[in-house]
Amino acid sequence: MGRPWKLTLDVDLYERLHNHLFRDDNDEHAAVIAAGVVSTTHGVRLLGRELFLAEDDVDFVRGGRGYRRLTAEFVGEKIAFCRDEKFCYLAVHNHGGTDCVEFSRTDLESHERGYPALLEISGHPVGALVLADNALAGDIWTPDGRRHSISETVVIGPNLQRLHPAPPPPPPAADPLYDRQSRWFGDRGQHLLEHLKVGVIGGGGVGQPLVSMLARLGVGEIVLVEPERVEPQNLPRLADATRFDAMVGLRKVPLLGELLAPFFSTSKVRLAHRAAKRANPKITFTGIASNVVEPAAAMSLIDCDFLFLAADSHQARNVFNAITHQYLIPGIQIGTKIEVDRETGEVRDISGNVRLVTPSHGCLRCNGLISSSKLALESMEPGERRRNEYIENVPAPSVITFNTRSASQALSEFLLMLGGFIDAETINGYELWRPRLKRTEQVEPIAGRDNCRDCGTTPSSRRGRGDGKELPIKQASG
Ligand SMILES: [Zn+2]
Ligand SMILES: [Zn+2]
Repeated sequence: MGRPWKLTLDVDLYERLHNHLFRDDNDEHAAVIAAGVVSTTHGVRLLGRELFLAEDDVDFVRGGRGYRRLTAEFVGEKIAFCRDEKFCYLAVHNHGGTDCVEFSRTDLESHERGYPALLEISGHPVGALVLADNALAGDIWTPDGRRHSISETVVIGPNLQRLHPAPPPPPPAADPLYDRQSRWFGDRGQHLLEHLKVGVIGGGGVGQPLVSMLARLGVGEIVLVEPERVEPQNLPRLADATRFDAMVGLRKVPLLGELLAPFFSTSKVRLAHRAAKRANPKITFTGIASNVVEPAAAMSLIDCDFLFLAADSHQARNVFNAITHQYLIPGIQIGTKIEVDRETGEVRDISGNVRLVTPSHGCLRCNGLISSSKLALESMEPGERRRNEYIENVPAPSVITFNTRSASQALSEFLLMLGGFIDAETINGYELWRPRLKRTEQVEPIAGRDNCRDCGTTPSSRRGRGDGKELPIKQASG
């Protein structure tokens, strides 16, 4: 058996498609999706990028052999677009029914007649999708002469909806260890967590509790990207760290100790690995001790099912925002802020932010959270940076209670999305917690701009491009 092929669609595209296909006339309708492709060791994922609706009786007409077919003109135009933009071409139509769907014999015969020629023209995968109201099947042809079916489709919206050709068999009973939580989200929810790969950028005061809790929940695979080692000043915020991890004793040795301690203290990825394994010995944990702008770090995240951003650099935000849009991976950015006046020491606002970012919602760039001047500063060498930094770079205040509160909030949102528990009527806002006012506010994010290079719809934007575009990372040397 080859690697599984899956499809990811953002909810905006899916709803436009669904409304076009399923109408009061109960008839068949059609469209074409141009999809980006991500190919990793986990499998191949197709990413819905553009949707072209076929107009009835103009682009989608009654034919001799089949019930209806797309006109040669419509197909020709879209296959040329997919060839030029390096997208997978997907012809879409609907059948009746609700939870099960499959291609008819007429459908399959038309694929056999048409797809070899389309493959020749495009040089990229081509295929078809057929939808029922709550089911999706696919027949994808690749230039190497193979055919693949789509095992699962994930629709990314306020909830993560999963579509299959037919209802999947009931999952195995969850480990009794997880009894209390599977009483909430069922054996299926627990099974889903076990088969999930979650990426975390940042392993500090927010990232460490995130990883610990993800592992406690039973998430099967975690990737953590964090370059630093444990320092004594981190200990009040890292529940799993010991004084030995920070080499507190060694630092007291005059001269040599101070010099050596930074090299011998435990790396934060190692600390997280230890905590994750204690929580769940079966977990697959990958710790990458480097900055997320390093190619190996960024590329380790592209086949994750969900991302958490728990680092506050603009570089990290930039890479996170690029990955969530280019690879259609939902994510949550977490930040806590204690504003203290540098001159007077007066405490101003205290806030905790939990921001959901999905391909059609909450882009960090469109919401003014990625500053190009900060990005430029962060990409400088340390010496150059000191000369250019006008304000002295002092560490920000940080307290365990605020960090873990935000980490918990982010994880709760993740569980609610995964299980489909978010109420459809809810404003899908950013959560802003303001403890000094004893208040939690929902902040409606700014809608994405058409010309945004991450979430936009212009030809050069990243959205859904998958492997067809470079990430904003350092170029691999050598
Ligand atoms: Zn059909
Ligand atoms: Zn944007």
